[in-house]
Parts: sequence; C-alpha cells; structure tokens
Amino acid sequence: MATLSPHLKQATPVVAERGEGVHLFDDAGGRWLDFTAGIGVTSTGHCHPKVVAAAQEQVGRLIHGQYTTIMHRPLQQLTERLGEVLPEHLDSLFFSNSGSEAAEAAVRLARQATGKPNIIAFHGGFHGRTMGAASLTTSGTKIRAGFSPLMGGVVVAPFPDADHYGWDQETTTDFALKELDRLFATVTSPDDTAAMIIEPVLGEGGYMPANTRFLQGLRERADRHGVLLILDEVQTGWGRTGAFWGKDHFGVEADIMMTAKGLASGFPLSGIAATSEIMARAWPGSQGGTYGANAVACAAALATLDVIEEEGLVANAAGRGARLREGLEAVAAETAAISDVRGLGLMQGNQFRDADGEPDGATAAAVQQEAARRGLLLLTCGPWGQVVRFIPALVVDDDAVDEALGIWREAVDAVVG
Ligand code: PMP
Repeated sequence: MATLSPHLKQATPVVAERGEGVHLFDDAGGRWLDFTAGIGVTSTGHCHPKVVAAAQEQVGRLIHGQYTTIMHRPLQQLTERLGEVLPEHLDSLFFSNSGSEAAEAAVRLARQATGKPNIIAFHGGFHGRTMGAASLTTSGTKIRAGFSPLMGGVVVAPFPDADHYGWDQETTTDFALKELDRLFATVTSPDDTAAMIIEPVLGEGGYMPANTRFLQGLRERADRHGVLLILDEVQTGWGRTGAFWGKDHFGVEADIMMTAKGLASGFPLSGIAATSEIMARAWPGSQGGTYGANAVACAAALATLDVIEEEGLVANAAGRGARLREGLEAVAAETAAISDVRGLGLMQGNQFRDADGEPDGATAAAVQQEAARRGLLLLTCGPWGQVVRFIPALVVDDDAVDEALGIWREAVDAVVG
C-alpha cells in the first residue's frame, strides 16, 4: 500500500470530504471551522456556488488550450479583467501555476530585463520551494536545508521587523535602510543588482507587515539605482489584508508584481504583472509552461473576481479582520505567553514567547493542536513556528469570527492558562 511521504507531516487532523464557505466536513460527521483557507487560497470560501458553476461550465466547454499554442476565451477575458484591478502601469501579464513559479518568472524576467545578476531579498521572506524561489527564502532553514548549492546571486537584507530587533519602528526602519545602502556600497553594487523582492506583509516569516517609510525607501532606491522592485503579493493579494493588494496600505508601486493563491479560489493559477517595457525584454520562448493559464482555472478566477466585487469581500476582510484583531488582542492581553498580535485584515498572527522572551514554537504548536481538537483549524508560521495565524476565507462573517475566538480562548487557556 502506498502512503504519502513521511516528510509531509499534516498540520491538522482533517480528512476532508466536503467544504462549504468557512467550514470543512469529513464523512464521519466531523465539522471544522477552517481558519487556514488552504493557506489563504480559498478566498471566496470552499466551493462558492458561483465559482463552482463557472468551473463546471468551463469543464464542459474547454479544459486545456496550452496558451502559447492556442489562446482561449477565459484567458482573454481574465487578462482584460485583471487590467481593472492591477495598477495601470503593470499592463503586461504572464501566467503560471503556483506562487513558486511566479517567483521564478519574476527573477528570470528581472535578470533578462536588466542584464544584471543579483537579487536582494529580505530576511524572513518566503517566495516558494522551487530551487530559485527557495534561494530567495529566509523564513526558516527548513525551506533550504540540504538543498545547497542554491541559486547564486542572492543577497539578503534586513526586514524592518521591530519586534525581532526589540527596537521601535523608526529605529528599525533606519537600521534596515542603512544596511541596504551598505549592501549596495559593499556587497552588490547597483550595476550588479537586477531587483529587490519583498512581501508587503511577511507571510510564512511570521505575519509581520513592512511599513510605509521602508517600502517607499525601497522604491526610491530602486529608481535611483536602476534596480527593479518586485512585490510578492502571493499571500497578500485579492483582498486578504483588507485592501485589494497588500501594497495599497503603503502606497508603493512595483515594477513586477507576483500573484497566486486567492486568485482562482483554489484552482492552480499564478502570474506576474510587469510594465510592457520590462516584459518586452523577456526572450521569446524563455518563459512558458504546459499548464499555465489553464482554461478552468481562468474561468474560476473570473468568477472569483465577480464574487469579490459583488459581495464586497475586500471591505469584509477589513471589517471582519478588525473584529478578529480586537478579539485576539483581548486574549493576548490576558495571556503572558502571547507577546503580540500582528498582521493586516484577515491575515492575523499571534506570537508565542517563553518566560525568557524567546520565540516559543512548541507552545504555539500545542495551542494550534488544541484548537484543532476543538474544531478550529489554524496554522503556525514564523522562523521558529512561534506564530499561530488566522486566515479565514474572505466570506467569513461575524458569527464565525466570534466562534473561532471562543475556541481560541479555550485552547489558549487549556495549554497555558
Ligand atoms: N510567495 C508567498 C508570499 C507565499 O506565501 C507562497 C506560499 N506560501 C509562495 C510564494 C509560494 O507559493 P506556492 O506554494 O504556490 O508555490
């Protein structure tokens, strides 16, 4: 009998048979409140009727039309529709199947477009598990261990994580920008640097938002040095943070933007958007793939966009996110083991620290498991696994938020109360 590889340790006990909205069900009568949303993928909730109908309809029409051979209607329509939600200057698109592939595509494009080799990534960033994407990733050694030699030309700069450094945000931002300038002066000169890549909110690295002054500082240096700025919106896009894009909180614009996850409500679809000037410098045939822009995934993405607009899901993420944040902060205020709550919108994390103030992954994991036993599915993140994160589908309502908060309080009390 075959089994899954032992390295695929499951974070939750669920064997899902069916999903509906923010709930998962198994065939033994179990019901779970899913605040993982498949790591933020099921943006419109499990099996939203409109997404299901669009996908079913498309399956009967055309499943696959390899897009460098045959253009198809859903892709034409999606390209047009994305023009309405993307920043106007990012008017040229390339599609792939996963966030990791989007990272690969962004880096290869940056190198081709600039003719320069090096990429600056930021500490705690996560960009995927393929070799190039893993080389940009510093959210934890488990992503890189045993893979060396990784892709060359990656330089890691500090992320302004004030909590990690134990400084205030201004001091931390000054430090991070100064270190970046020092890297440009001593390690990778602008003439050798193709791009900087950053998440507006660290995802796997611990749900830590960047800040406006830092991101504007990156933009200013990118312009001054002729270096491209890549924003990885794989986790922060599609309303997750209470704005359509994570970058909207900080008023910063990318030269290349990556998207995946929430884009097609669970169908594999990802992509990068760049200015046509940059994209025109990709060599013909150098980027592509058999499955990119699958017709069913594109139809699901179109329906996802409709649902986000019709149901006001970006505003819902902001409103329900504020309620969730308030409830989590109330629990944290009464719990010495939770040092802080961080994140934006429906991307909220609770950091656990031990009595010595050290990141405490063991307690975070114990609380996550306790919550699962009580019917609430959560995930951990952070370099030490010390952050328990809440990422419900954007359709979540007040009742589900309150139910999750109730279980959270019980689980926290049971483990550290
Ligand atoms: N970038 C970010 C910010 C992510 O959160 C992830 C996935 N967690 C990826 C890239 C990689 O996406 P995928 O797992 O689809 O390859």
